[in-house]
Amino acid sequence: MTAELSETIRGAAVAARGFMPTDEGDALWSAGVEAASAVAGAPFLEIGSYCGKSSIWLGAAAEAAGVVLFALDHHRGSEENQAGWEHHEPDLVDADIGRMDTLPHFRRTIFDAGLERSVVAVVGDSPTVGRFWNTPLALLFIDGGHGSEPAHRDYELWTPHVAPGGTLCIHDVFPDPADGGRPPYEIYLRALDDGFKERRAVGSMRVLTRA
Ligand code: SAH
Ligand code: MG
Repeated sequence: MTAELSETIRGAAVAARGFMPTDEGDALWSAGVEAASAVAGAPFLEIGSYCGKSSIWLGAAAEAAGVVLFALDHHRGSEENQAGWEHHEPDLVDADIGRMDTLPHFRRTIFDAGLERSVVAVVGDSPTVGRFWNTPLALLFIDGGHGSEPAHRDYELWTPHVAPGGTLCIHDVFPDPADGGRPPYEIYLRALDDGFKERRAVGSMRVLTRA
């Protein structure tokens, strides 16, 4: 397996719409490559795909390893993406129903990046899917709802599926409250408490390993 991210795919990721700084996306890709060699044959799962930006970095790593990324999102936006909130983008609203719909954007992003074979959209509510999930993961990336309840629920429901030696990535971890909301930082602390070991920190991205 080659540990080189093609400039074409990386360019697509950088150009894609969403909330993933390039250095943190590159960290996701490296984490994916390492995760796939630590836990051979197991898939990746990301919670919170939005328009597919982070999915490109993770999907490219999955493809290089011959596994897949399950990209889980209900595509209705988090609380912070709704009208009146900081991260709202009005053109992502389906005017007929007055609800956000990022799924068409996600599909187009993944198609354009040439990753449709390796990125499998799972369209649904994270806790609902999590209740029935039963497959060990080489890598879990948590970037869904950032409120206290959603973040802690994602942590509790999904981290048990990280295989021994597998990788947990958490986004938007801000040790200083002045930089952002607390819940992602809180679940990062829980992960350390639960025995995950920190492997890398890039911006607000944390990459941890399950013992
Ligand atoms: N990783 C993305 C950004 C994710 S934004 C990027 O690289 O740009 C957070 C996403 O989490 C939103 O798309 C929202 O729809 C999704 N989300 C929030 N709560 C969710 C839930 N309970 N189930 C599924 N998806 C959820
Ligand atoms: Mg994020």
